[in-house]
Amino acid sequence: MNGIPEKLVERYNHLGSYSADKISFAGSSTQSAIHYRDELSKLHSQAGASLAAYVHLPFCPVRCLNCERNSTITQDPGVIDEYLDNLNTEVGLISEYIGSNIHLKQLHIGGGTPNYLSEPQLAHLMDIMHEHFEIDQETETSIEAHPKRASKIQLDLLQGLGIKRINFGVRDVNIDVQNAIGRVHSFEMLQDVFETARQAGFETISTDLMYGLPGQTLESIKDTINKITVLAPDRIDCFSYVRRTTYLPHQIAIDTATIPTRIEKLEIFNEIVEGLSGAGYSWIGLECFAKQDSPLVHAKNNKQLRRNWIGYTLNPAKNLIGFGVNASSEINGLCVQNSVDLKNWTDSLQQKTLPIQGGLRLDNEDLEKRDKIIELACNPDLTRQHSVISEITPVYLDIAQVQVKQLTQQGT
Ligand code: SF4
Repeated sequence: MNGIPEKLVERYNHLGSYSADKISFAGSSTQSAIHYRDELSKLHSQAGASLAAYVHLPFCPVRCLNCERNSTITQDPGVIDEYLDNLNTEVGLISEYIGSNIHLKQLHIGGGTPNYLSEPQLAHLMDIMHEHFEIDQETETSIEAHPKRASKIQLDLLQGLGIKRINFGVRDVNIDVQNAIGRVHSFEMLQDVFETARQAGFETISTDLMYGLPGQTLESIKDTINKITVLAPDRIDCFSYVRRTTYLPHQIAIDTATIPTRIEKLEIFNEIVEGLSGAGYSWIGLECFAKQDSPLVHAKNNKQLRRNWIGYTLNPAKNLIGFGVNASSEINGLCVQNSVDLKNWTDSLQQKTLPIQGGLRLDNEDLEKRDKIIELACNPDLTRQHSVISEITPVYLDIAQVQVKQLTQQGT
């Protein structure tokens, strides 16, 4: 079997301490904003600074019951217009520190449902980014899209605006699973959207699935994988459904009796691994699968695969500036998080202050561990992992060596 052994799931089936919503951005908002401004100013003087931008657009027309994003439900386009005005202010404030026209290596637009924006709103967003950053042929540009919101006009526009990769959030093709999470779209519609995106000329078309969803079975996921591979996306991300009703109360509406057990979930994931492997995809690592002839797979085979906050890539930027509610940034080892609350984010920007909620400065040990964890995520090879982990720190070494040996024994 190419997937994860059952014994490992039994032992480690819990959220780790690095789950995104548990990271403690302990610094006060005022202090963090001061440190952030200092680091942004230093970036200005760093020749050839390596920079990515993430833009969070939280709006969706309805809420999927499985949703674990920072999302805001609205049917009022005026709310989105106001958000874009505030985003413009945020980008302008940041530019006061880093200067204008700094080159972006990566630009990722996520949500929410970014393609819930109208065509003029999408064009306005890209105008804002172009006004303050240099975005060119070298920039990796990507956007997340809901297939149900996509149209030929919209896809042509996005491609014309310079977006190279479009990711359609599918989650599952099976109608029972779709009904269980309140996110229904037909396979025929997906075929039409993927074909239209291909005709529009995007360099990369990717999609994402979710495993562990209510109503999923081995049979249903086999059918989903068969259908997804007919669509032939260049890349497929498979995320685990995580139930966190304390933070995400809308998930309570999902009947727990319909959620696969952890062993069933493991079997479903292993079925995904086997199904995609049989259809010409390679498991890059963690959630990501890519066509065997894709640049990501070549990079992995040549030990050149890299990863940052935006995901797997060939050429990651070292620093990230996040724009929008809940967005995180990292500049020269300083991590800060924007307000997670839309009203607080809006109020800060209307007062012309950065909407920082908290921050955390990574020390050398943190940075070293982070680099090694990324190395593990990019080169998932147990023999190699053992030697990589043992470089981290003496304390970590003792624990990690024992754990890796245990994992190696359990996994064989
Ligand atoms: S489209 Fe995405 S962000 Fe919006 S409600 Fe559904 S899962 Fe959440």
